[in-house]
Amino acid sequence: MEDNVLLQVSHLRTQFETKEGIIPAVDDISFTVERGQVLGIVGESGCGKSVTSMSILKLIEKYNGRILAGSSVKLEGRELLGLSEAEMCNIRGREIAMIFQDPMTSLNPVFTIERQMVETIVRHKKIGRKAAHSTAVEWLAKVGIPEPEKRIKEYPHQLSGGMRQRVIIAIALSCDPKLLIADEPTTALDVTIQAQILDLLRKLKDEVNAAIILITHDMGVVAEMADHILVMYAGRALEYGTKQQIFRNPRHPYTKGLLASIPRMDRQEERLFSIEGNVPNLLKPVEGCVFRERCGYAREACGSCRPELLSLPDESRVSCLLYEKEAKESAHE
Ligand code: SF4
Repeated sequence: MEDNVLLQVSHLRTQFETKEGIIPAVDDISFTVERGQVLGIVGESGCGKSVTSMSILKLIEKYNGRILAGSSVKLEGRELLGLSEAEMCNIRGREIAMIFQDPMTSLNPVFTIERQMVETIVRHKKIGRKAAHSTAVEWLAKVGIPEPEKRIKEYPHQLSGGMRQRVIIAIALSCDPKLLIADEPTTALDVTIQAQILDLLRKLKDEVNAAIILITHDMGVVAEMADHILVMYAGRALEYGTKQQIFRNPRHPYTKGLLASIPRMDRQEERLFSIEGNVPNLLKPVEGCVFRERCGYAREACGSCRPELLSLPDESRVSCLLYEKEAKESAHE
């Protein structure tokens, strides 16, 4: 494994058993995250991006999910999927921290911010309560909470939504995690606060040298934040590349559709573009390409074989039969 690789996810497959049948929510996803890198995982809701992050943290069983044999999630070369719940408790919060869309799901409404921060810091950093209190106040100041000594005594409901998300960021980063998973961290906030929170995440990740997996449905957010982007659809990876590759030269018809549906200030459009059709019902086995029903380039072969994630000459990857020739040529170079 290359030294700079922090997280390596290989052939991750997670499914849910429901009364109606089995849903393959994440179907053979592989990617790496390097130290200090921001990987944006984008796609419509239900595409498997949040299930991917819950699988990395081994939280999926709580939601009746199952990670299938053959899947692998390595943090600094250490396999996480075989670890016990007690071992994972030490990894969660300490080595991998998480920020959710709604801060109230992470904050306990009956405890003060002080109690929640100090307990987390004591548990993960193995320091005394006094030192943990100082660290907590320091982090509240860093995330822009005014009068942190006073606000730390408050309960979550006494803070605004934006302030609560700042507290969550402070808790997440105060234990110096190696990886931060931020799942739609700004979706519940209004636009000006969104920009402030993204700015804060960008600055603070450099301070603790953490990598970020940023999960979002919003291409504008990944354009702001990500170094690399993974596009997911119906549980599968359709395209992976640097931000420049994805925005300047998108290959997959789905990625092209996502980008075309972003409103543009420099054009007068009567109606915004939208990708026609619906995401396939994953309760029924999907033959061939998962995007076939909505793809304007679909041909007969697309219905019979599942496209691999092909490596292209510029090191981006795409799961589409249209690029087979280009991928073959680059393999022979
Ligand atoms: Fe479209 Fe076929 Fe490519 Fe799938 S493999 S995205 S159906 S062209």
